[in-house]
Amino acid sequence: MTFRTRFAPSPTGPLHLGHAYSAILAHDMARAAGGEFLLRMENTDRERSKAKWEALILEDLAWLGLSWSEPVLRQSDNLDSYEAPLARLREMGLLYPCNCSRKDIRAATAAPQEGAFPDLYPGTCKHRDVSSWQPGDALRLHMDRALARFGGNLPGFTETGEKNAGFHRIEAATALSRIGDVVLYRKDDAVIAYFLASALDDVAQQITHVVRGEDLFDFTAIQVLLLALLGLPVPVYHHHLLIRDESGRRLAKRDDARAISLFRADGATPKDIREKVGL
Ligand code: GLU
Repeated sequence: MTFRTRFAPSPTGPLHLGHAYSAILAHDMARAAGGEFLLRMENTDRERSKAKWEALILEDLAWLGLSWSEPVLRQSDNLDSYEAPLARLREMGLLYPCNCSRKDIRAATAAPQEGAFPDLYPGTCKHRDVSSWQPGDALRLHMDRALARFGGNLPGFTETGEKNAGFHRIEAATALSRIGDVVLYRKDDAVIAYFLASALDDVAQQITHVVRGEDLFDFTAIQVLLLALLGLPVPVYHHHLLIRDESGRRLAKRDDARAISLFRADGATPKDIREKVGL
């Protein structure tokens, strides 16, 4: 099986050092394995995704010397492909509608647990039947029912990253206490949410190895669960360490000072960027 990996940025800001590391690492791993590197724009968040960021990301990646073996997959061009899998989850009785606002959720979650998944949902709408869905409602995964489908034999994935290499079986207690009933269909712009779209696109692009930051480790459990529920192949995952600044703080998108475009403007070379990120 050919090694195929991808870089899947969300065009909601400039490419910074952390992204560059992720992209170069994935690209180099593919080249070393005689495989393929693909690019996907995860732009289902219509409000925050901007054409100008996409253009800049493409320019920066090309400047870094990266090339991809197939045309860029844009999630906004692929929306139809998410419908059947979503309908399947619905038929399986694994979705429920939810009209809670972020504010409602915060109010219901009196004491957020330390280290909990940021959106751990308190279950306010869990009693609702999917047939009561109305335009403007989101759809959430009923995590307890999803886990029950596996009858104790939960799926897992192979990790090849620096930390925790080996096979990871999803743990029911962790899924319930850290992940919970994630949103799979968003009410704000009526599209499939990141978890499902990204996992489905990995299958559509025949990705064998997902290379991405360790900050997405919890997301992997959700995506593996979704793929297993849908009977789809689960790739191997490689979660890499994150690039941190001098004070050990992880770089975030808002750290525009680390934007590749600014290093470029200052006369840095692609080799300088590789050195900066330790590659
Ligand atoms: N689009 C996500 C992001 O930019 C990453 C997706 C992934 O690597 O699976 O944070």
